[in-house]
Amino acid sequence: MSDGYNNYFTTVPEFKRMLEALYERDFILVDLNDVYEEKKVNGKLKLAKKTMMLPPGKKPLVISVDDLNYYEYMIENGNVFKLVLDEDGNVATWSKTPDGEEIVSRDNEIVPILDLFVEEHPDFSFRGAKGVLALTGYEGVLGYRTQSGSPDRESEIAAAKPVIERLKETGWVFGSHSYGHINVPNVSLTRLKQDTAKWKREVGSLVGDTALFIYPYGARVDPGDAKFDFLVASGYKVLSAVGPTSYTKVQGGAYTMDRRHMDGIALIEQQKTLADLFDPDAVLDRDNRPRSYWEKKTPHKRP
Ligand SMILES: [Zn+2]
Repeated sequence: MSDGYNNYFTTVPEFKRMLEALYERDFILVDLNDVYEEKKVNGKLKLAKKTMMLPPGKKPLVISVDDLNYYEYMIENGNVFKLVLDEDGNVATWSKTPDGEEIVSRDNEIVPILDLFVEEHPDFSFRGAKGVLALTGYEGVLGYRTQSGSPDRESEIAAAKPVIERLKETGWVFGSHSYGHINVPNVSLTRLKQDTAKWKREVGSLVGDTALFIYPYGARVDPGDAKFDFLVASGYKVLSAVGPTSYTKVQGGAYTMDRRHMDGIALIEQQKTLADLFDPDAVLDRDNRPRSYWEKKTPHKRP
């Protein structure tokens, strides 16, 4: 587990440092649903990149968070348990310490931290945009066990709904991360079809329709592949993978793109590719990450 957290997570201080640096460098959050438009060309709808009119000097930025499901194995190992609404109606986290103490916080997870940052710096967000929350469905959503077969399914759905509504009201949008966190290039078309239907039934029914498909493992399929065409035919207009550099390209009827991963691997091993966003070395959290994780790889900064 510790390897997983080190490799694929950022710490709270790292995320805060990233936000400060991105804001200082004139990035502005935009809604991923606003980057494309459909135009009629010779009577047929065609997807195209949309020109956004941002405030002068600002550079568009999309933040997306995968797997905001709070899987059981994570909860047992130090993650927060779920997103809730605090007494003021703001999105906060709920967790329980090993001693049984319940904690409601707005300072230990991406969503409330970014909400507070935008409250303080409204010009970091274009028209209130926050980020994309990409959800699977097999262990419910946002820490609520809403999936088919869950013993408390109805009450969990009822509890999740106000949180989902508040997230939408406050600029967050949802994307599909597949139902079962499937590796799209490796599964059959039949499996992808079943998975997509299940996501729509169990997750789409809660968060609403989405045009955003965020590939699990960041692993994409390309135009010409029947699975690509199926995703497009299913209503997904933005297909987002993961890669070392971000790009966007309209192809095969979809807006395709790679996202960069903000995690321990990137902060330590891919410092050059992050340099346009922030100084990875200044962001890296040497206080909370084990010394053994970063010491060998960033020897020049050994204190
Ligand atoms: Zn994932």
